[in-house]
Amino acid sequence: MVIEPVDPRRCQAEWTQYNAFVMGGNVYQRRRCENPAAWVVTETEPDERGERGAMSLCDECKQRCIEEMGDRPMEFVEIVGGQVYA
Ligand SMILES: [Zn+2]
Repeated sequence: MVIEPVDPRRCQAEWTQYNAFVMGGNVYQRRRCENPAAWVVTETEPDERGERGAMSLCDECKQRCIEEMGDRPMEFVEIVGGQVYA
C-alpha cells in the first residue's frame, strides 16, 4: 500500500457504493468523497511497518471515522484556510 500525500482541499475518504445497474461489471464501486476537507486525521501510533497513516476528511467523514475506528489511536487537526495547523 502506498501512503498518499494529504490533500488539504478535498476529503480523501472513499466509500464503497452499491450500484444495482452496472451490467456485467462490479456493482460495488469506490467513490471518493466530494466534500472539501476540514480535518487531517493522523494515526498516533505506527503500524506493523512503522508507518503512520494520515488523510484529510470533511466533517461528515470525520464523524464516520470516529464511529468506525474510534478504538484506534488517532488525532484530528483542523484545516483552516487550506493550511494545516498542528
Ligand atoms: Zn468526506
